[in-house]
Amino acid sequence: MTQSLNIVPFISVDHMMKLVWSIGVERFLVELADYIEDDFRRWELFDKTPRVAAHSPTGVIELMPTSDGALYGFKYVNGHPKNTATGRQTVTAFGVLSDVGNGYPLLISEMTILTALRTASTSAIAAKYLAPANAQCMAIIGNGSQSEFQAMAFRAVLGIKSLRLFDIDPAATQKFIRNMAGLGFDIAPCGSAEEAVQGAQIITTVTADKRAATILSDNMVGAGIHINAVGGDCPGKTELHHDILLRSDIFVEYTPQTRIEGELQQLAPDHPVTELWQVIAGEAPGRSGPAQITLFDSVGFATEDFSALRYVRDHLDNGEFYQELDLLADPNDPRDLFGMLLRAKV
Ligand code: NAD
Repeated sequence: MTQSLNIVPFISVDHMMKLVWSIGVERFLVELADYIEDDFRRWELFDKTPRVAAHSPTGVIELMPTSDGALYGFKYVNGHPKNTATGRQTVTAFGVLSDVGNGYPLLISEMTILTALRTASTSAIAAKYLAPANAQCMAIIGNGSQSEFQAMAFRAVLGIKSLRLFDIDPAATQKFIRNMAGLGFDIAPCGSAEEAVQGAQIITTVTADKRAATILSDNMVGAGIHINAVGGDCPGKTELHHDILLRSDIFVEYTPQTRIEGELQQLAPDHPVTELWQVIAGEAPGRSGPAQITLFDSVGFATEDFSALRYVRDHLDNGEFYQELDLLADPNDPRDLFGMLLRAKV
């Protein structure tokens, strides 16, 4: 893709949806997982910092920057669990990918859909290394915006077709079932979280509530289970009972951020954890036995968004999936910015 100096490709929500369908949802999730894994393998290269969070009584707004030295990316994302009551999403996002060499943005993109896709791909990568090899059934507790993406990624990457669902709002579960109809899943709606986890080898918790919730209590998690805990991602916002954490081997994205935001905030600051990149790079074991309880304490890290923006950039063809944004001033003489303004006088 050639780019004139003042024009920045902008991928709107509409374009993102067209891009996803042009590739196919499952292929997108699998290929995106490859990009995320590739960047986890290059972990040492990246600038890493816990995301910068602005908290309020109703939610949080966060900035997530990172760079591999050649490209720079950041995402703006919010988390407002009560938003759905006023017709808004709990999570919305947009992001930028830039050229480190000259600082110019290479693209600006919607990232609400892209976040759901990258979160699902990351969860599936973690499960590939951590879930029991014979896993066939997953419980999904919380059936909101993220949930179908999680189901699609787990099927695409691990072949999981059997789902057991629970949400405190039955309308959310019905929406999930409608959306997944005809896609070959075997779906059991359940009356409680306790019922949903029966017979599941993987438990995904993806609820939204701005408090320390107990979506899973200790008695609900048996030996050998893999937990994909996605919804606890903010200080004071967790999903698992403390005792589950003590029985689990815990895997995280970036430890300093997860200690602030993840289930890990319930434990001592020196509680041992393994970073996912270490497992992917073969520097630490993933699942080490059939009785082990593995917990992916997902909060979402900047490199995953960077990988997602990289993937999108590599799939923008001939202007079909973006529009050109007049974002950057481009005077004929680079130092004559004021002259450009003068010539535009009406
Ligand atoms: P959403 O509001 O669309 O859906 C959340 C669902 O959880 C709702 O249907 C709600 O009824 C249900 N729920 C709330 N409390 C529950 C409970 N006690 N038991 C069962 N169900 C319950 O939100 P979403 O966009 O799907 O996001 C879900 C969560 O995932 C949020 O907390 C969000 O911050 C988090 N998230 C994490 C990552 C990550 O990378 N880890 C990425 C995106 C979103």
